[in-house]
Amino acid sequence: MDLKQALESLETIQRKLYAYNAASSALYLDGDTVAPRDTAEGRGIALGVLAGEQHMLLTGPELGETLAELEAHKNELDLLHARQIEELGRTVGKLKRVPAQEYMAYAQLTNEAGDQWKRAKQASDFGLFRPYLEKLVDYNRRFAAYYDPAKAPYDALLDEYERGVDTAYLDDFFSVLRQRLVPLIKAVGERPQPDDSFLHRHYPVEQQKKFSDYLMQVLDLDRAHCGIGETEHPFTLNFNSADVRITTHYYEDDLASSMYSVIHEGGHARYELDVDPKLDYTVLAGGVSMGVHESQSRFYENIIGRSRPFIGAIFPQMREFFPEQLADVTEEAFWRAVNRAQPSLIRTEADELTYCLHVMVRYELEKALIGGELAVKDVPGEWNRLYKEYLGVDVPDDAHGCLQDSHWSGGSFGYFPSYALGSAYGAQMLRNMERDMDVWGPVAKGDLSGVTAWLTEKVHRFGGLLTPAQVVANACGDFDPACYTDYLTKKYTQLYGL
Ligand code: ZN
Repeated sequence: MDLKQALESLETIQRKLYAYNAASSALYLDGDTVAPRDTAEGRGIALGVLAGEQHMLLTGPELGETLAELEAHKNELDLLHARQIEELGRTVGKLKRVPAQEYMAYAQLTNEAGDQWKRAKQASDFGLFRPYLEKLVDYNRRFAAYYDPAKAPYDALLDEYERGVDTAYLDDFFSVLRQRLVPLIKAVGERPQPDDSFLHRHYPVEQQKKFSDYLMQVLDLDRAHCGIGETEHPFTLNFNSADVRITTHYYEDDLASSMYSVIHEGGHARYELDVDPKLDYTVLAGGVSMGVHESQSRFYENIIGRSRPFIGAIFPQMREFFPEQLADVTEEAFWRAVNRAQPSLIRTEADELTYCLHVMVRYELEKALIGGELAVKDVPGEWNRLYKEYLGVDVPDDAHGCLQDSHWSGGSFGYFPSYALGSAYGAQMLRNMERDMDVWGPVAKGDLSGVTAWLTEKVHRFGGLLTPAQVVANACGDFDPACYTDYLTKKYTQLYGL
């Protein structure tokens, strides 16, 4: 194989990987949206075959020879190809280091653990999930050693989700959050709460759907390239930079729920649609990491979507969609209601201010579990203790405590911190954006084009061409978590008159 052949082979293999992914995603999307209830079995078989084909392609001789030939000509490659072989090499290396038998056994374990977690959560009984969590922690400690034996196990796992992030980085990050946010949340808690009862009037689904269409228009999401569906838990799925889908969930007694799901998932979709199309059908397509992705979705949802200028811009339209429900509501009251902050038990329902403390609890527990300093049997007690310490709330039972999230049952340890990092990256991006341009004048008129253009220039267009750390440096400069705590302090001081 010569260089020219190797480059052709590289392109062909990446297109095949894209096709397997696209087929799996289409099946997954179908299953979660419109497929009839008792049809999962056949899809499961198809998904299993596709995963097997993908694994064979990644670990097979064809890709091995291709990568070896390209490695030998590394200095002649442009950035695009250099990054493609770097990413593929990483994936292949990781897959080959994990013994096939353990890989298969682990896939089966996460499958069973997912079912058992659902049962345990329903019964609110951690004891039912405990033996599975013990095995999952053991496997992940072993896998961490396969990924990178030089690193502490939790650091090796973190690197899988947010390349370059480790415990030292996160300890500093969360310690700034803890010092500044715990007292701020306490001060907010001592102030009277704004009325948000009007958000829970009757909002018919049909009207909310029209409102979703309007919000997607405000985000400039071209409906010829971005679809919207309904699922229990909202998500975004990308096929390529010209085909992205978002979902939402409508509650007739909660206007803000779907409204902010659409803006959040719309932010993820904005990112995917704005990636340079040259990266399509390669391993560099799509958003670069979970943390950077969350920085974008949360930017649109919280920093823009919950700002006073944005509410001012869309409120007159909202009143046309919901004339009776909002007849006696002012835009000022609406802005205060959607920013109501109060410590609570459930992460996914948390407000912008308290959200990161939910993540911090999970970070500390994961770090100790994977580090071997916390026994699985002690998880509920530690969980409840930390919720009391950081959020001041008493956890009544496991369902509202350590069993609320599915992540660990799926084997994801090291994923949670990305949520908090994304929020913090976004706040620093805002600071830099405000230095570069007038952010709020156009937003107050409902015009987000400048915001999107800035984010596209600094973040979106690169897809995976840059590493997560490079993208963050490009948009944030030197990462400084104080930008985030300053942003929250300013916002909530104004909202609550501290
Ligand atoms: Zn998200």
